[in-house]
Amino acid sequence: MKITRIPVLSDNYVFVLFEEEQKIAAVVDPAVAEPVLQYVKEIDAELIAIFNTHHHMDHVGGNKTLIKHFPNLCVYGGIEDKNRIPGQQIFLQEGDTVSFGDRVGEVFFVPGHTRGHIAYYFPPVEETEAGELFCGDTLFAGGCGRLFEGTPSQMVNSLSKLRALPDNTRVWCAHEYTLNNLKFALTVERENRALQNRYAEVQAARNQGIATVPSILGLEKETNPFLRWDNSYLQEKTKMKEPARVFGRLRGMKDQF
Ligand code: ZN
Ligand code: FE
Repeated sequence: MKITRIPVLSDNYVFVLFEEEQKIAAVVDPAVAEPVLQYVKEIDAELIAIFNTHHHMDHVGGNKTLIKHFPNLCVYGGIEDKNRIPGQQIFLQEGDTVSFGDRVGEVFFVPGHTRGHIAYYFPPVEETEAGELFCGDTLFAGGCGRLFEGTPSQMVNSLSKLRALPDNTRVWCAHEYTLNNLKFALTVERENRALQNRYAEVQAARNQGIATVPSILGLEKETNPFLRWDNSYLQEKTKMKEPARVFGRLRGMKDQF
């Protein structure tokens, strides 16, 4: 399964999955249709699926046009997003699976950013390979989504599921927010060496216009404050102990940042 990242709008990423042998493609969170249509034409593939993570316009804006061009494609989304995702046909919940070519994706229910948010995880085929996580606006490189329709404890529960995946998992998040996220992270965890190094690398990459997505889950665990609610330094910093409270305090600080 080949994955291509298409930058759209101001800071969104749309991901196209491609199975070369069968000449089939799927798209994750098509914010817009045009670049997807163009790319699918370039690789001469049939678009057979849209995997939506949640209902926000910058994730589903291209659905209708794509359906018009590929009337047989299947639109997947979370069951709680019923009536919120244009053209949705499959209503997924925790533990469900989706298939694409010979790959099987696992569905996680990850409410918090929105109440219907789901994530798709494609485990590796070979043990030596990495799994692919499409987490929409739940987990970002160096950060996490705002809590528009959920509570800190829901989000901690959701992020815990993602955090439990293997360290080498590639994290395909939907926005290029990494540099700003790490700027904030440094304000709460200045002494974290891994974070300092990552910040320098990301800054250099962004100066050259290089994308920072996908990220690697192991690095997120070391440097993303929103996966580090049980870190004693951050507990001290927030003057909280309980995961949801540590997380909630950090999220509140980031909202003000
Ligand atoms: Zn969103
Ligand atoms: Fe978004």
